[in-house]
Amino acid sequence: EKITIEDLPGVGEATAEKLRENGYDDIMTLAVASPKDLSEIGGIAEGAAVKIIAAARKYADVGNFETGEEILERRKSIKKLTTGSKNLDDLLGGGLETQSITEFFGEFGSGKTQIMLQLAVNSTLPEENGGFDSDVLIIDTENTFRPERIIQMSKYKGLDPDTVLKRIHVARAYNSHHQILLAEKAADLSKEFDIKLLLVDSLTSHFRSEYMGRGSLAERQQLLNRHMHDLLKFGTINNAVIAVTNQVSARPDIFFGDPMTPIGGNIVGHTATFRIYLRKSKGGKRIARLIDSPYLPEGETVIQLSEDGIMD
Ligand code: ADP
Ligand code: MG
Repeated sequence: EKITIEDLPGVGEATAEKLRENGYDDIMTLAVASPKDLSEIGGIAEGAAVKIIAAARKYADVGNFETGEEILERRKSIKKLTTGSKNLDDLLGGGLETQSITEFFGEFGSGKTQIMLQLAVNSTLPEENGGFDSDVLIIDTENTFRPERIIQMSKYKGLDPDTVLKRIHVARAYNSHHQILLAEKAADLSKEFDIKLLLVDSLTSHFRSEYMGRGSLAERQQLLNRHMHDLLKFGTINNAVIAVTNQVSARPDIFFGDPMTPIGGNIVGHTATFRIYLRKSKGGKRIARLIDSPYLPEGETVIQLSEDGIMD
């Protein structure tokens, strides 16, 4: 018989209801929750939350090791989304992978948002054309979503722009907490729509402006870490692509070579499976460099930004 969250000692009806409202609706989610989050959400003491988590862990299948064979089996369900550029797809081993986070970082105007918009359009393409025939969720933190660009890019791909616009769900995030909440709520939207692409443009801008001083850096990293894991969880559960953008800042301690480094440091770097550094070149050309991939060689290629979208 299936165990529900009410079966756990210490979870009464009222607590269960609060937990469910916040997406903590099964044993596994509780088993991997943090006591602090659970106590806040459930309106219970942290000690009580610790006990609930411990009980959930007894029932849940956590910490089981997978064999390489099992992981290979899971990886077989991974799908790839085209970027619109054959060059960039090749660099990525065929496109953006589901079940992982791909980060595009670069300076202002390097084309991060253009790539996000193109991915949104491409996700609605049929599978034989490199898409998922799916809906898309965009968390827009900089108010740079432009339906007009979606229309242009859709037309170029031979898609009906109205249909594409209907399949793209945009949520404006007003601050970092709102952004975190929207990522948590993404799970709700995925019950209603078949979402195979979740975009966050930009991942770090709110965090960067809100947590400025040295003292708040640890808190910022902790929140970013949690946010990234929420995103990754969405990607794994829904077999979806997660793509995020990130700004760069100049490191004062680098005198030779390129001093530009992505915001968010180790946290973002370790959670994003693929990182692509975008640099401006002549006209609409951009240089895309793959950095830190677990199994693909580093390398770079040239893509073209144009009125019709991203291409070679
Ligand atoms: P970022 O998000 O990295 O700051 P963007 O994705 O907004 O940068 O890229 C802006 C660039 O995209 C512009 O400099 C221009 O080269 C290109 N671009 C934007 N809109 C169009 C368009 N309608 N036609 C051609 N190029 C465009
Ligand atoms: Mg942008």
